Amino acid sequence: MKLTHTICPSCSVGCGINLITQKQEAVGTYPYKRYPINEGKSCKKGRECYGMITEEKRLLNPHIKKTSLVGSNWDESLNLAVSKIKSYEPEEIGIIGSGNCTNEECEILKKFATSLGAENIGYPAGNFPNFDFETGNLNDVENSQFILITGNVLKEYPLIGRKIILAKENGAEIITIDYPQKTTTGMISDQYIQTESIRQFLDDEAEKIQTKLNESSLILVSKLDNKEELEEFHQMAAKSNSKIIPIMKECNSRGAMNILPPLSEDELKTMINGMNLLYIVGDDLASQLGETLKKVDFLITQSTTLNQTALLSDVVFPSACWVEKTGSFTNITGNTQKVQQILPPPGEAMDDATIIMKIAEKMEIDL
Ligand code: SF4
Repeated sequence: MKLTHTICPSCSVGCGINLITQKQEAVGTYPYKRYPINEGKSCKKGRECYGMITEEKRLLNPHIKKTSLVGSNWDESLNLAVSKIKSYEPEEIGIIGSGNCTNEECEILKKFATSLGAENIGYPAGNFPNFDFETGNLNDVENSQFILITGNVLKEYPLIGRKIILAKENGAEIITIDYPQKTTTGMISDQYIQTESIRQFLDDEAEKIQTKLNESSLILVSKLDNKEELEEFHQMAAKSNSKIIPIMKECNSRGAMNILPPLSEDELKTMINGMNLLYIVGDDLASQLGETLKKVDFLITQSTTLNQTALLSDVVFPSACWVEKTGSFTNITGNTQKVQQILPPPGEAMDDATIIMKIAEKMEIDL
């Protein structure tokens, strides 16, 4: 049995974990005791993340659509993808990366799009815009005297939740804003502001809350209804010398945002509606965009599993998951952490960067 250090891929907090392997197979995880972010703790999603590696639906070889999706080989599937990419004008091609991809994979995808002249590129960022203000760090959570939270941070980002509880034990006042009647975060808060929208909070309640904010306060923004709202929370923090941490979903959301344009769901739909060929790397967008994806003439995906998006695709390339490649993830506080390859990808799967380079090579594009 072997323990190898890696970063948890299940959310944007960036906890350190150890992957337990036995005879080159992932069998579990163990929290990394000395890791400053999670101090030897991990949540259920973190403990179970090795399931991504052993998942039954892992794709072991490329697939192409004939009457249905069937197994293929690298040559045939690459040739098909390349001939289709060549048959469309750059403005008919949309390219979508992911906050699950490493920084290096996002860079190579961007270079590929630039070489093609394809300007329709981005990654699904929920409602978060790119931002360049300084964020607080994770130690600020437990050291704050007042914490304003949007969304259910305790449930979605449990290791930040742990720090919120520590802050509460140290006497901090916690106010949460959200829509449902009850949330885990709301239950531990001193005040739960149930609102119809974040906009409603900003219009009706923000001024009152502003009087509570000072240099020992922190704003944790995990829920937004649109991109503009983040700047309003930033202004609340800036006016009061409070700290602010925007919390995006995926392990490399912050890194992807620095490389690819962040797209909201509406922006994604608008972009995809105008495309004839779509190339998706690293995200299962079918549940979110199913009908929109069906309108695209030709869909190429890179995926670790035969998920819903893969099933809608014309070509699917099998990709490596996080411990099967080397690269880096940037967590919510801007900390860029390396991940090393621990296991070989299964079957004929390859890491996303290699697949993009193989397509580029066939197109005689020099990346
Ligand atoms: S809080 Fe996030 S990064 Fe940390 S163990 Fe849980 S899922 Fe993984």
